[in-house]
Amino acid sequence: MYKIYLPEGKNKYEFEELIKVFLKSGEFEIDNINTASERIQSSEKSIYVPEFSLLPDNLGKKEKDYKNEVKRFLYNELKKYTAKSPDWGILTGVRPVKLAHELLEREKSEDSVKKILIQDYYLTEEKADLLLEILKCQRKILGTSDKGATGIYIGIPFCPTRCVYCSFPSNQEREEDISRYLLALHREIDFVAKNMNEKGWYPESLYIGGGTPTTLSAEQLDVLLSHTTNAFDLSHIKEFTVEAGRPDTITIEKLKVFRRYGVDRISINPQSMVTRTLDRIGRAHRPDDIIEAFSMAKEAGIPVINMDLIAGLPGEEVDDFIFSLESLLKLVPENITVHTLALKRASRLKELDSEFTYKQGEMVRTMLQKASEMLYHARYHPYYLYRQKQMTGNLENTGYAKGNTEGIYNIRIMEEAQTIIALGAGGISKVYYPSENRLERVANVSNFEIYIERLENMLQRKSDNLFK
Ligand code: SF4
Repeated sequence: MYKIYLPEGKNKYEFEELIKVFLKSGEFEIDNINTASERIQSSEKSIYVPEFSLLPDNLGKKEKDYKNEVKRFLYNELKKYTAKSPDWGILTGVRPVKLAHELLEREKSEDSVKKILIQDYYLTEEKADLLLEILKCQRKILGTSDKGATGIYIGIPFCPTRCVYCSFPSNQEREEDISRYLLALHREIDFVAKNMNEKGWYPESLYIGGGTPTTLSAEQLDVLLSHTTNAFDLSHIKEFTVEAGRPDTITIEKLKVFRRYGVDRISINPQSMVTRTLDRIGRAHRPDDIIEAFSMAKEAGIPVINMDLIAGLPGEEVDDFIFSLESLLKLVPENITVHTLALKRASRLKELDSEFTYKQGEMVRTMLQKASEMLYHARYHPYYLYRQKQMTGNLENTGYAKGNTEGIYNIRIMEEAQTIIALGAGGISKVYYPSENRLERVANVSNFEIYIERLENMLQRKSDNLFK
């Protein structure tokens, strides 16, 4: 058992996140150290983080650098004890690309940004290069968000079955419950659209996600899309996405509904093309269903199709992952997103094996390296990246695109420099204040029954915190 002593103060949670990259829970304890005698009595496996004034190289450093200084100290100590050197260094946050954007604003030179990422944040050269490549791509296609341009997210929290790694609100409900939910959602759509019009805001992107929106029938999707496209001013819309994640929920009728209302991007998410893995993770579809859904979507004329794969699924070896990626590359989708398995507490797999993500780390690292090589070779480039807590090997999720097919919504949500309004159960809106470069969160409840019951409260909350 490691005993790690931290000085009293802020950022404990972040320090703990970094410690967890090196050590499993149960392998360490965190405590405060207040007296020299405690220090003397510390065991061999104790790490004592000194007060700011005692840290090396602290001269001239401001208090705000304290956090990173402590993290560097912890990193070096833990590396010494465990012989691990994590690829993302001391970074534990979800949005490393945002940090790279901020560094470039300040440094004005990509070389300096790379140097800082490696020397101050301890990233491997490979991850620093990946961030810079994404940064350059995003700068080229986006620029600053126009005043009034807003992202809209509409959540459909239903799925046909629950995947073993799922920690989202995904309900397997009866038709009549879904209909009640949609009625409440229509009311929120009308409310948000009216308030946006009054403020001169307009959707730059529209994203219907979940759950699995294609759990709805073609008729329900028709009503939802008709309601949405009538309510919002879509004169400035740049992209309209619907997640059609589970191939077994996709039909040609639903795809035709999408095209009728201008949907230009969908996501079909195989996660793996290996049958026994699909069985193991609780997905009812077969690899052939994926191929069929993909051809249907092409036939229906959907311009951009994304396909998600997950590295590190239970029972998979590197060859299984490569097989899945090769199978997707044969289809030539416009986007491929390579996820690393992340297991939150709410997932069944985490309950079954709490150390699963630690055990798979090295293998998933190889999978991601192979994916990057194969995708570059097939002329895809990385355009957005984010990290999650509890990711296998503490790695990352990367979205790749072919040609100019990058998803604006995906970039904006990670960049956190635009207001995104989220509707439906579990939706978390983020209001952006450009003058202060600050975001404020306005959350809807995640349980869909409570969302229906307390809809008026949610609308009031939006009115008070978003539209005032
Ligand atoms: S498709 Fe996504 S939201 Fe639905 S059960 Fe699987 S992981 Fe959860």
